[in-house]
Amino acid sequence: MSLPKKVAVIGAGTMGNGIAQVFASHGVQTVLCDVNDGAVQRGIDAIGKSLDRFVKKGTLSDAQKAETLARISKNTDVESACFGIDLMVEAVFENLDVKREIFKKADRGAPPHAILATNTSSISVTRIGSSTKRADRVIGMHFMNPVPLMKLVEVIRGHATSEETTAWVMGASEALGKVPVAAQDYPGFISNRVLLPMINEAAFCLMEGVATREGIDEIMKLGMNHPMGPLQLADFIGLDVCVNILDVLKDGLGDDKYRACPLLRRMVAAGYLGRKSGRGFYEYTT
Ligand code: NAD
Repeated sequence: MSLPKKVAVIGAGTMGNGIAQVFASHGVQTVLCDVNDGAVQRGIDAIGKSLDRFVKKGTLSDAQKAETLARISKNTDVESACFGIDLMVEAVFENLDVKREIFKKADRGAPPHAILATNTSSISVTRIGSSTKRADRVIGMHFMNPVPLMKLVEVIRGHATSEETTAWVMGASEALGKVPVAAQDYPGFISNRVLLPMINEAAFCLMEGVATREGIDEIMKLGMNHPMGPLQLADFIGLDVCVNILDVLKDGLGDDKYRACPLLRRMVAAGYLGRKSGRGFYEYTT
């Protein structure tokens, strides 16, 4: 179990700032990189607020908060952000072309020994890796939201990812206090391949009038011990993200059983995207 000495996190959004926080909290020099200063600063501010919650709970001191923030440096250029790193974790938009561009730049900037990881939820790690000259050192590190609280890291082995790279990333994830679980690089890996059909079926049940939204969620919470019902969870993930992942599963696995429910598609077309748009299966005021 060993941690990298220096890590670059590319993308300072929801996932990127959480990932940077976790590395910096474990003593790792962390470079946080996004397209401009404003985006990086928003990420740093989010980390500050998240650390404040731990200070309030009494699990972190003010001095530890300051030390953690002091380990994070800012950058807006992917290539130079990767100088001298041991690990890069990419958490930019879920778009293959954008990710391949980032990996090309990281491949140029990072030392030869460095491992390049992607936090993608559904894009092929193999396709991302093939944009570099080190596909054996490209891997998926799929953290869960919110990163500082969620234990799982789904570690995805691309077609060319080496045993050594996988073993190192599993060890580093454990050193971060996470529980890594390995999966092969097939569409949706494990987490989304199993989760999304459940959410989709819940949407079909609602569309067919089998039960109300509350009824469907209550049955899964009380009956299956899920902390959140599938429709609530879909709102949290974003209905547009759910439809995108279902399309990836249907296209990549070539099976119509993954076709997105027409109600989900209609809601996305109407701009009902879940929590982030204030309205999905439920309404949100905050
Ligand atoms: P987000 O939209 O919150 O953040 C993405 C960030 O990437 C933005 O700040 C954007 O400015 C930045 N970015 C875009 N292009 C860039 C570039 N060329 N260089 C540097 N920065 C760039 O997105 P997110 O929710 O944090 O998701 C990031 C990744 O994590 C996606 O691949 C997503 O599928 C995956 N993921 C998301 C979740 C989740 O629950 N949100 C969970 C697991 C995995």
